[in-house]
Amino acid sequence: MIAEIISVGTELLLGNILNSNAKYLSEECSELGLSVFFQTVVGDNEKRLEETIKRALQGSDIVFLTGGLGPTQDDLTKEVVAKVVDKPLVKDEYTEKKLIDFFNKRKVKMASNNLKQALIPEGSLVLENNNGTAPGLIVNEDNKILVLLPGPPKEMVPLFEEQVKPYIRKISSETIASKTLRVVGIGESTVEELLTELINGQSNPTIAPYAKDGEVHLRLTAKALSEKEAYELIEPTEKAVYDILGDSIYTNEDKTLEEVVLDLLLEKEYTLSIVESCTGGLLSGRIINCSGISTVYKEGQITYSNEAKVNLGVKEETINQYGAVSGHTAKEMVEAMAKVSGSEVSLSVTGIAGPTGGTEDKPVGLVYIGCYINGKTTVKEYNFVGSRERIRNNSVIAAINLLRL
Ligand code: ATP
Ligand code: MG
Repeated sequence: MIAEIISVGTELLLGNILNSNAKYLSEECSELGLSVFFQTVVGDNEKRLEETIKRALQGSDIVFLTGGLGPTQDDLTKEVVAKVVDKPLVKDEYTEKKLIDFFNKRKVKMASNNLKQALIPEGSLVLENNNGTAPGLIVNEDNKILVLLPGPPKEMVPLFEEQVKPYIRKISSETIASKTLRVVGIGESTVEELLTELINGQSNPTIAPYAKDGEVHLRLTAKALSEKEAYELIEPTEKAVYDILGDSIYTNEDKTLEEVVLDLLLEKEYTLSIVESCTGGLLSGRIINCSGISTVYKEGQITYSNEAKVNLGVKEETINQYGAVSGHTAKEMVEAMAKVSGSEVSLSVTGIAGPTGGTEDKPVGLVYIGCYINGKTTVKEYNFVGSRERIRNNSVIAAINLLRL
């Protein structure tokens, strides 16, 4: 089924509020197996709203509208929908009673325009709103469905969860299943290039790569009559992706890179210590974000100055001869940390995060990462690009990635 999301509200067009409803509904539609082809934003204007709804109905099986269901003058959604589907607005007794009770309980006099919220396009299904006064509505028209939802997210989301989702599941025969493969160490464009043939060669499942916080996530989505069948469709494609990307995929589960690494360290009963220069604690911070890390993580140091590096155990001559940002320094940092901490596994990071401080020899983005595992040290050189934040973030990811032992 094809869906369109229409967000109603002049405040959205003015940029006063973020359109979080559209984001939420798009994600939910995707979960439900509905294909969203358009998201539209339209102001509180009768004529333009009418045009927008009519156009959406031409191309979609189901149209979601949020906003404009309240009691005020500028709340027009229901009125315009009634006009488009050519149904009169009639009073819904239950909603009216609820409204009257609501105001009586609070001992406030109800302004008469509030009763407008009890009017519904004839024949529509009322979705009771337990977090506000305006109910949601489902309007059927010529094999098309219009779902009207209140604007405030704290009303819209529970209403969708509790009433709209089950309704859609009931009417749609297709189920959707998806699996995300998480890739690290190669960029989005390279991933796309490697998978071009595979991506173009099939439509069920689809393969959608997207960049996420320095990683690439590949979402494989299949539609079938049952969830089991959908997962069966995903299986061979998943295998084909693994054949191409191999070890760059760090998980096919809902896990972060640091969680995957933590599991490996726990399994081997290794402890971890970290010494950082340019990442300044970011690496330790990211690792410590994992719950259950306490048996693994032993200690961390930020040796930002040369003096601090020397205090840890880096030789002064090494820094003088090769510089603080060098493979030699990274090696001595990580080995000194391993010695001081007694950990089986240690990491060190030293680099030039920029934006200033780079030279021709050692440009901004040059980072060395030392990795010590049980007496064996490896040092890797990286040349990252981008802002200071991005370089530091990519250094953290690269360092954690070295621990996929
Ligand atoms: P009310 O009964 O509160 O008037 P309503 O259904 O008429 O609800 P609107 O008047 O359009 O909805 O919007 C009310 C508030 O809901 C907005 O001021 C805004 O805070 C929030 N809202 C509306 N639309 C969105 C949206 N697309 N994304 C996030 N928040 C929204
Ligand atoms: Mg309103």
